[in-house]
Amino acid sequence: MDDTPPEQAPGMRRLRFADGLEHLFRRYHADAFLARMRWSLLVAAAVFLLFALLDAISLPEPVRTQVLALRLGLIMPTLALAGFATYLPRLRPWLQWTASAASLVCGLGVVGIIGVARAHAFPLPYEGIILVIFAVYFLTGLRFMPAMLCGWVTFAAYLGMEMLAGTPGHVLLYNAFFVGSANLIGTAGCYFLEYAVRQHFLSQRRLQEMAEKDFLTGLLNRRAFSARAASTWRQAQREKHAVGVAMMDVDYFKRYNDHYGHAAGDETLRQVAQVLGQHARRPLDIVARYGGEEFVGLWYDLSAQDMQALLERVRAGVAALDLPHAASDAAPRVSISIGLAYLQPQPGEGIEDALRLADMALYQAKEQGRDRVVCKQPQGPGSTG
Ligand code: GH3
Ligand code: MG
Ligand code: MG
Repeated sequence: MDDTPPEQAPGMRRLRFADGLEHLFRRYHADAFLARMRWSLLVAAAVFLLFALLDAISLPEPVRTQVLALRLGLIMPTLALAGFATYLPRLRPWLQWTASAASLVCGLGVVGIIGVARAHAFPLPYEGIILVIFAVYFLTGLRFMPAMLCGWVTFAAYLGMEMLAGTPGHVLLYNAFFVGSANLIGTAGCYFLEYAVRQHFLSQRRLQEMAEKDFLTGLLNRRAFSARAASTWRQAQREKHAVGVAMMDVDYFKRYNDHYGHAAGDETLRQVAQVLGQHARRPLDIVARYGGEEFVGLWYDLSAQDMQALLERVRAGVAALDLPHAASDAAPRVSISIGLAYLQPQPGEGIEDALRLADMALYQAKEQGRDRVVCKQPQGPGSTG
């Protein structure tokens, strides 16, 4: 298991993990910030509406008409569209883009509003730009890069507009300093925010890993097996596919510990687990440590022959480790016995039913001399080994 503290993880400072992890982070971020994005759009809409009210009361014509056209004709519909986009699951991977577009429209829209006022020599305060910039960095749920892009583009547009409007140099300098500082504060704050979100993401992943993995072997633990197997089981029920559920148990392992010591026993369990892991590589295959020296596996949609052949390879793989076991009556080396339940899940049947059958098969494998695979199907028994 990876023990580096989250803040030292590669890509943390640059706010970019390696590709696969970055992809997972972005999905996590999109899910975690979905509700926040909706609320921020609502808050933005409320603020723009309140300003529209203020404009309607206090602005002279024709400034009022033009400003209201920008607020109600451009900004509000954009916010509504962006809000709608958050409810379309297909757009989920693009939410940063839609929220960026909405932020830009708000930023440029407010620049436009101030520009309209300047064109009619009406002294509208420029501070609206600062409000938008803070909202972009701290409210929207945008990640650092897109937020920064929106913030600084808005800043540049504001400067351009003031220059075009012929704002006197000393006034422009002060305003530019304020808007620029808002952007700097936003940039730094947004960086720290995303840094913390990434830390949280890594910690959560690590906790989940710790909760799901068996410490000694690195395989899944029994709890994780139960959860995943139940979901695969339901899928097999829906799609009417067969599953193979196998219980696998190291032979005479108590004697092994007594003979070679507990530490050697641990190392042997690790090696056996590694062999098992090599035979469960498809996305729906699961192998886990069930407890002690007992392992469990589930394979999805293999024929009965392929399933038995696979488990025979598992058995042979453990034998091929060639770990001496002087105290075993089954073989002069470490061996495992495997009980397989091969079945198509029926309505009303649960994974426990398959486990019970596999356990019976394992019991038979032990009875018949160990170091073998015994297969049971609900219709009737069969065996290889
Ligand atoms: P059988 O062939 O019938 O399975 O006999 P067995 O001795 O393997 O079965 P039994 O259930 O009697 O003993 C299991 C042993 O596995 C007992 C315990 O000492 C050992 N064991 C369980 N967990 C661990 C572990 O984490 N590390 C080590 N080294 N040994 C373990
Ligand atoms: Mg055993
Ligand atoms: Mg056992």
